[in-house]
Amino acid sequence: MKIIRIIVTDYQTNCYLISSLKNNTVIIDPGGDPELIIESIEKNNLVPKFIINTHGHVDHITANNLFSEKYKIPVYIHEAEKDFLNNNHFNMTDFAGVNYEPAKDIKFIKTGDVLNLDELEFKIFHTPGHTAGGITIQLDNQLFTGDTIFRDSVGRTDLPTGSFKVLENSIKDVIFKFPDNYIIYPGHGPDSTVIYEKENNPFIKIT
Ligand SMILES: [Zn+2]
Ligand SMILES: [Zn+2]
Repeated sequence: MKIIRIIVTDYQTNCYLISSLKNNTVIIDPGGDPELIIESIEKNNLVPKFIINTHGHVDHITANNLFSEKYKIPVYIHEAEKDFLNNNHFNMTDFAGVNYEPAKDIKFIKTGDVLNLDELEFKIFHTPGHTAGGITIQLDNQLFTGDTIFRDSVGRTDLPTGSFKVLENSIKDVIFKFPDNYIIYPGHGPDSTVIYEKENNPFIKIT
């Protein structure tokens, strides 16, 4: 397995390319700057097979349609995030002023779903709070948390469908229930670990 992180757009979003031993690849959060993502795909001889959105904000979804069409692949997003794909207020493409066209091949997922790619198993966990349909994706000892939690911080909860109480529960009841040594790959900023955030995250206090 290989994980490549590409930082895209002015929002500095982490787009992840995760590849199997056969170079089949999942694109997590193609939020923009598609030329950077394509360059990495081609340089590494990767074969995209599907897209997963951790949630439906502009900086995570803007290049969905381009990649879905180019590689004829589906986009997976949580069922509670349905409204974000076509609502430019919810997905904030109106606020950001970007040219956005929703992808056509959308598949909805929920907690308990597993997406397989060769030897890789992507397990889906609903972690709402930043948005109603935010997810964490578990791959072995790695967690792709989107904008739910960052190193030393958490996602905003003042945007449509956000709630701090719900976010706090998602972090305590889902993310912090994974083993301490699990690696957190957030939607923005550097990697972290479950234990690091338990001990240092100033927004989430374990009592
Ligand atoms: Zn977001
Ligand atoms: Zn974001």
